[in-house]
Amino acid sequence: MRIVKTIAEVRNQVKAWREQGLTIGLVPTMGYLHEGHASLIEASHRDNDKTIVSDFVNPMQFAPTEDLASYPRDLELDSKIVEEYGGDLIFNPEPEEMYHKNFSSFVDMTVLTQELCGLSRPTHFRGVCTVVTKLFHIVKPDRAYFGKKDAQQLAVIRHMVDDLNIDIEIIGCPIVREPDGLAKSSRNIYLSESERKSALILSKSIFLGMDMIKKGETDCNIIIQAMKKLIHTEEFAKIDYVKIVDCETMQQIEKIDRPALCAIAVYIGKTRLIDNFFTEDI
Ligand code: AMP
Repeated sequence: MRIVKTIAEVRNQVKAWREQGLTIGLVPTMGYLHEGHASLIEASHRDNDKTIVSDFVNPMQFAPTEDLASYPRDLELDSKIVEEYGGDLIFNPEPEEMYHKNFSSFVDMTVLTQELCGLSRPTHFRGVCTVVTKLFHIVKPDRAYFGKKDAQQLAVIRHMVDDLNIDIEIIGCPIVREPDGLAKSSRNIYLSESERKSALILSKSIFLGMDMIKKGETDCNIIIQAMKKLIHTEEFAKIDYVKIVDCETMQQIEKIDRPALCAIAVYIGKTRLIDNFFTEDI
């Protein structure tokens, strides 16, 4: 397993692999890897001859008020996980390698980014689309792997690939959770012991919503109100949003009469956590 810092090194390696007729999977990450990321690497290793993991805390997807400076980083830990789960190369560029000083081109999206996290983080998806497009051009993978944990991101990437005729298969992978239900996230490290307990309210409300739909409830407002009521029982929790949207357009719906996504964002103290479920996965 190699770690490289430059675009030229990635391209040379990819060229050598392509000359041998090998297929390539890409797993874009911001590092501080956990079992959620590992499941993506494992899936790519299963489907492709070679797997490249990008490990880059992308400044462009953070607003000035967000946690770019404090975002956890640990390349040594990451390299162990990538190696263990069958990755072949880590691309760990410095910001200057990805964004030279005259950088001025962006990939942006309308509609899908005007709901959910796009409302609370208005410049976030422009940063995501831009960096993912760059990674796609640098690696030119056959397939790229994204977690359903970031459900809106997955929908945005699928839509972008379709809109811009990018010839890469996008694979969505299930959410990996802690044994008690909390969705694994690099940001869970920010939680104090008591906040970690409070954070369980996210997955509890997700399971409640799933259960209501399983039992036949189709009125989105009733489901959302029940989930909100449960979250409000936790004193450290502050709701950013609890919404049910159409899977493809990310626009709110009133009835579960098509494939839908139920997504939540909740602050536990200062830490903003997200969770969700797709009705198709119930
Ligand atoms: P991040 O490093 O947080 O940007 O995440 C990189 C990729 O890993 C994204 O596609 C995420 O959706 C995915 N991911 C993060 N956490 C999980 C999880 N708990 N289960 C599955 N995928 C995840």
